[in-house]
Amino acid sequence: MDIADVEDDITEVLFTQEQIHAKIAELARQIEADYAGEDLLIVGVLKGAVMVMADLARELKMHITMDWMAVSSYGSGTQSSGVVRILKDLDTDLSGRKVLIVEDIIDSGLTLSWLQANLRSRGPESVEICTLLRKPEALKVEVDVRYVGFDIPNAFVVGYGLDYAERYRNLRSIGILAPHVYS
Ligand code: 5GP
Ligand code: MG
Ligand code: MG
Repeated sequence: MDIADVEDDITEVLFTQEQIHAKIAELARQIEADYAGEDLLIVGVLKGAVMVMADLARELKMHITMDWMAVSSYGSGTQSSGVVRILKDLDTDLSGRKVLIVEDIIDSGLTLSWLQANLRSRGPESVEICTLLRKPEALKVEVDVRYVGFDIPNAFVVGYGLDYAERYRNLRSIGILAPHVYS
């Protein structure tokens, strides 16, 4: 399967590589201003946030450290339940740290609200959230999100780290998956 076939699986490109990079630069400027002179730890949530982390980290013109977590959200099918299990925990002690969780997307918000509460229980100075995408219509719980790239409609999107059955993470753009792929 070559890349042209892969692109046939996308019905609509929502954001091109250029639009994503411009937005990440905007977010980076806000983060630099908010954390000027601070020792910031950015925490990427595997695996979807890999691309956002890689681009955001390189865009930040300040010292940062990076760490990673992997969590799984129990639920039926594509709906998350809010019951979260840690598959890979941080290597970093959070006491007194300023922490920024970096995510690809907030859908129901259940995973991130759990994760933020979990990290806040570890004695950090602060735990904020940066997400590239958010689906406002899908939110089930209030999440305290400091930085949002784009609000998107309630559709299933792939690319730039986001998968369907582990595929499409390597697309440079973000798009809506064609129904023929999953039906
Ligand atoms: P939440 O707990 O906010 O409902 O779930 C967030 C997680 O669900 C995301 O980190 C992502 O892994 C997955 N997810 C939610 N919406 C989408 C989507 O539109 N596309 C993809 N590929 N994953 C999604
Ligand atoms: Mg994610
Ligand atoms: Mg996924």
